[in-house]
Amino acid sequence: MTAVTQLSPGLWQVSLPFQGEPEIIGSYLLAGGNELAIIDPGPGSTYEALLAAIREAGFDPQEVTHLIATHIHLDHAGATGTLVQHMPRARVYAHSKGASHLIDTSKIVASATRIYGDRMQQLWGMIESTPQERLQTIEGGEILNVAGRRLEVHYTPGHAVHHVIFFDVHSGELFAGDTAGVRLQGIDYVRPPTPPPDLDLEAWSESIDKIRRLRPDILYLGHFGPARGRVGTLSTCAKNSFPGAILY
Ligand SMILES: [Zn+2]
Repeated sequence: MTAVTQLSPGLWQVSLPFQGEPEIIGSYLLAGGNELAIIDPGPGSTYEALLAAIREAGFDPQEVTHLIATHIHLDHAGATGTLVQHMPRARVYAHSKGASHLIDTSKIVASATRIYGDRMQQLWGMIESTPQERLQTIEGGEILNVAGRRLEVHYTPGHAVHHVIFFDVHSGELFAGDTAGVRLQGIDYVRPPTPPPDLDLEAWSESIDKIRRLRPDILYLGHFGPARGRVGTLSTCAKNSFPGAILY
């Protein structure tokens, strides 16, 4: 199975082999206008697979200009500090409420260690810090001109207080991170990833309304891949006895 799939002009999906399993953790590679961007570079344990996937798509990892995090959970952005050492041109974009934890990773490491204990290294690999001068904080409301696209940044707390999504108005493509829930390929229900510590269902519900109002044509999920269809609500899935199905 190939790790890289082209989704649209200038856009590739990368399947990172998390614990050897494909199609659980996804990154997106955007190319255009002499820029190369990664949305959600993934965990430290798969950073070499990400570098290999960039090469497989026909690019040089050293040419990456943007590392963009929907949020700073380890499965989305744990590799950031390691990757900047391999990507001299890359600037890192993360919400201001998460950016400080990329500079000083001790809090994320401590809280993840409480959950994962001695499996930390095996699951997440190295969690290295990102130098402050490589970081650009975002709040929501900005336009990022990246890799030939205009990406609107929207703040979408709920799953995490530091979560943003990126919407390409021109193409209707929306990079949703975990805000639109988890739907692994081949499975037709959606479940919301509900990690501690800052889960906020009310804020999450508002964030989903925000996504719905944007009327995206396609959602690119962190877990995993493209999803088309109507954007539902958190209560939709309560009915289906899932704590929150968001797409259906
Ligand atoms: Zn997350």
